[in-house]
Amino acid sequence: MKEIITKFSTKKYYIIIYLLIGIMTTGLVVKNPLYGEDNIGYYFHLLFAFLFASCLLIYPKYKKGIIRWLIVIMATLLFYTLFLIYPETGSTILLIYFIPTISIIFFDKKLFYASLFINQILIVATVIFLVNNGKTSLYPNVTSDPIGNIVTFVGSQVFIYFIFHFTSDRITKMQLYYEQVKHSERLKTTGELAAAVAHEIRNPLTVVKGYLQLYEQDKTLDESMKKSLPLLIDELDSAEQVISQLLSLSRPTMDQNTESVDIERAINSVAELLQSYGILNENKIEVVVEAGSYIEINKMELHQLLVNVVKNAIEASKAGGTILITAKKLKNEKIEIKVIDDGVGMSEEQMTLLGTPFYSLKTKGTGLGVMICNNIVKKYNGSIKYESLKDCGTTVAICFPSKSILHRG
Ligand code: ADP
Ligand code: MG
Repeated sequence: MKEIITKFSTKKYYIIIYLLIGIMTTGLVVKNPLYGEDNIGYYFHLLFAFLFASCLLIYPKYKKGIIRWLIVIMATLLFYTLFLIYPETGSTILLIYFIPTISIIFFDKKLFYASLFINQILIVATVIFLVNNGKTSLYPNVTSDPIGNIVTFVGSQVFIYFIFHFTSDRITKMQLYYEQVKHSERLKTTGELAAAVAHEIRNPLTVVKGYLQLYEQDKTLDESMKKSLPLLIDELDSAEQVISQLLSLSRPTMDQNTESVDIERAINSVAELLQSYGILNENKIEVVVEAGSYIEINKMELHQLLVNVVKNAIEASKAGGTILITAKKLKNEKIEIKVIDDGVGMSEEQMTLLGTPFYSLKTKGTGLGVMICNNIVKKYNGSIKYESLKDCGTTVAICFPSKSILHRG
């Protein structure tokens, strides 16, 4: 639940607010014992009623932030003023008890806890003030049964807390469900789009790959030229895999072959492959890998995962920056691969958007890389975590169960 205004229509909101203003005006003028008298308390009543009404009226324009706090503060000032200047109207104490419920309408946790806490302090302070100034006799309803009133007060606060707790719990679940539905809806669209695009891309790729394979076998061609052909064919294979992967986003399958993959070799081959890509921007790739670490995975998918992450690191790096790739066994029999760059980094907001289909800040970006990585990691029971600081760099930590664990299981 983001806003109350989106739930009720704005029109309904204003009808309720005008009704409330009508009630407040009635309270100010109809049979008010202080009406027409030059009483300072009455002027405060008038002032806070006016400010409270104004805040409620402008709320739909601003909705978030300070306006919610202002509404609660104005309501607090108004309700306490009513309690203090009209002691004969016993029910004003109820208004005070229920001040924290205002933030329930906004579903603002911070505001709720703050108003619950501050309201309790204010109530105690008010009681002390009344006792010290000998005004308790003005509140026979409250003073004739102090214990009963304390119990009612504590009970009301616990009750309010429960309402808030359960409502916010339910709302959070609903929000989560809504996000999941939105996410899977997006994935579905991506899958459909991918299926359409894949068909168009696969054919030209096959043609190019076929020609490259022909050149590879062509004895008349210069050997130095042929040297890079396996690399190009490898990259085309990866491109084909990306297409299949994109297709599998809408129809996930587990039918791909897995094997025991040597992490050191996999990382070195990716580093070698992307070295030339990094050179364009004078970036260096350094590899520090513990030998003898294996994971059970589809080789191409691991390659795809690493290429995506390292490519992003290169693209984020400034000229001359270094990308460090490390891999080691952790104590919990997991293997952790880290790709560390000292590039542009990401803000918190950018981090929350990471992995959203088509989210890219690059002019030629696809915004699919991170999502594909997330999918691959999930498929092999791994985890992927991004730590980033704007303008300082990013660390991507990928964890996979090491092979021995899988075998034991
Ligand atoms: P693309 O690379 O096509 O933009 P990705 O899904 O791979 O798509 O990445 C999405 C976005 O995430 C990038 O555009 C970039 O803004 C951000 N990003 C990913 N990795 C890094 C990184 N190492 N440093 C900074 N930003 C990154
Ligand atoms: Mg990318």
